[in-house]
Amino acid sequence: MKILVVDDSRLARASIIKTLNEAFDNINEIIQGTNGQEAVELYQTHTPDILFLDLTMPVMDGFEALRQIRAYDDKAHVVIVSADIQEKAVSQVMHDGAIMHVQKPINAKKMQEIIKTASFLSKVESSHE
Ligand SMILES: [Mg+2]
Repeated sequence: MKILVVDDSRLARASIIKTLNEAFDNINEIIQGTNGQEAVELYQTHTPDILFLDLTMPVMDGFEALRQIRAYDDKAHVVIVSADIQEKAVSQVMHDGAIMHVQKPINAKKMQEIIKTASFLSKVESSHE
C-alpha cells in the first residue's frame, strides 16, 4: 500500500506515520508533503492508495488541494486529518469528496477503520470497472 501524508507540521506527519506503522505491516511506501500544492503534485506523480490531508497549510490549503485532486482523480481516497471539526468545514470536505474527516491525532483503532474503509472502496470501484 502506498500512502501520501501532507501536513505543514512535521510532528503531525510523524504522528500519522507512527500510527500507520503500528496498525499495518503492508505499507511499502510513505511519501510526505508540507502544503496543498505539494499534495496535488505528489498525488499526480505517485497516485497513492490513500492521502492523509491537513486543512490549514501555507501556499495552498487542504480544501483547495482536495478539490484539485478530486477533479484530477474522482476515485482519490482522501482522508482529512484536521484539528478543525467545525460542522461547516466537515460538511465542505465531505461534499468535495473526502472519504472521511478525522480529528487529530489519529489513534490505532481509528487508523484501522480508515484503512478498512479505503480498502472496501477500492474493491467496490474495481468491481465496477
Ligand atoms: Mg496545518
